Amino acid sequence: MQKTFYVTTPIYYVNDVPHIGHAYTTLAADVIARYKRLMGYEVFFLTGSDEHGQKVEKAATASGETPLELADRVVKRFQALWEKLGISSTDFIRTTQERHKAGVARIFTTILEKGDIYLGEYEDWYCTPCETFWTETQLTDDKCPDCNRPVDKLKEESYFFRMSKYQEQLLAHIEANPDFIQPKSKRNEIIAFVKEGLRDLSVSRTTFRWGIPVPGNEAHVIYVWFDALTNYITALGYPDEGGNYGTFWPVDVHLIGKDILRFHAVYWPTFLMAAGLPLPRKVFAHGWWTVEGQKMSKSLQNVVEPNMLIDKYGVDAIRYFLLREVPFGLDGDFSHAALVHRINSDLANDLGNLLNRSTAMVAKYFGGVVPAPGEETALDRVYREKTVAMVGQVGELMEELAFSRALQAIWEVIGAGNKYIDETAPWTLAKDPEQRERLATVMHYLLESQRLVYFVLTPFLPKTTAKALAYLSWPDAPSAAGLVWGKLVAGTAIARAEALFPRIENSDS
Ligand SMILES: [Zn+2]
Repeated sequence: MQKTFYVTTPIYYVNDVPHIGHAYTTLAADVIARYKRLMGYEVFFLTGSDEHGQKVEKAATASGETPLELADRVVKRFQALWEKLGISSTDFIRTTQERHKAGVARIFTTILEKGDIYLGEYEDWYCTPCETFWTETQLTDDKCPDCNRPVDKLKEESYFFRMSKYQEQLLAHIEANPDFIQPKSKRNEIIAFVKEGLRDLSVSRTTFRWGIPVPGNEAHVIYVWFDALTNYITALGYPDEGGNYGTFWPVDVHLIGKDILRFHAVYWPTFLMAAGLPLPRKVFAHGWWTVEGQKMSKSLQNVVEPNMLIDKYGVDAIRYFLLREVPFGLDGDFSHAALVHRINSDLANDLGNLLNRSTAMVAKYFGGVVPAPGEETALDRVYREKTVAMVGQVGELMEELAFSRALQAIWEVIGAGNKYIDETAPWTLAKDPEQRERLATVMHYLLESQRLVYFVLTPFLPKTTAKALAYLSWPDAPSAAGLVWGKLVAGTAIARAEALFPRIENSDS
């Protein structure tokens, strides 16, 4: 049976415009999805949109649309960006789709019938923009601790989820599964939060209409997070437990921003426990981006617009920068200077130049035909072994979602290639007919090492690697079978590579 892999992004809220934070999560999911496909897995990669809730209802009223019209309009912007960013998702779920609504109603009913959802009355401080109730002690200066806006005292009839009942079971699960919540610092935060005690959670609202009605009591709509989180199984066809659900659930990893960790590491697992469904294997919370050292905000007008960046620098440069610049899981800073530096130094100089130099020499010394290697010297062996070791290392680092370190490992081999040229001095070998075989070995090793570099780079830089492998006349899509040394065929006619990444001279933003 084929190995399977299921990765998700959060579903993005249609009251937002797509920014670099959305692009970052989705890109990370894309890279791991592409890597797993390269390794022969059957992959389900899910993204989508969160379309219900009071904020959407209000925004739609303000712009003279129905909530669904607003959602239709904004969803297109997200989808267009994903296409532009080269996102290879399997499915895009919208919470307004019937397939989703049916699944949410089912899981709600299942938990209700079990007695873990009950009707009660709720009174507390409510932040409308955040759609969150806060207790007195959670408020900061009588304001919402998340957005610092005023809150209202609100009392309503509400269905409650008996989250308190699952406190010990959740703690035991987190402790028995060290990888369940990552990175480790975030795991510790969640453990501390759960140990403080879980309260029952209000899971319905009567203050607005734009949501999924509670089955059997249509005065209530289901709480947006209960609705939204369930997308991870409704997209797989739940409540039908065969099909994609049977194949892909439990999910291998939910990728999220750290601001929504609690919903994914506390609420969602306890909903699943109550419904008798398996828990996610891993929830990974990544960090936030600041821009030129400042927090991104609409008021500062420094929100980085991914479309504009892609137009200006090219999609693969952006893909590379976002995953290389900052270790996944930590906060990072976006600056144009840093981006231009990465493009010029890593992509144009190191990566592009190496292919350019090597293919130019093969063209000059061997008429553009890959020569057969001769005897391996110590220098060649070191270069070969470093390349082969890198392929394994990248595999291990991808398991940890350590994208930045994986790229670092790849770049060490690119650096070794440039050094190998300096040390073997092909231009000197070329002058001596007796060194013809030696020169052939050097050329062959250079190309074979780079073939492997481009294979493992495929998930990160899909467009660039396709171009580079075409210069090397590689006939097929890269696959796991090709991830071993010695697959380059002597006698293959290759092309002289042009610059993969032109240098950027003007570093003004
Ligand atoms: Zn708020």
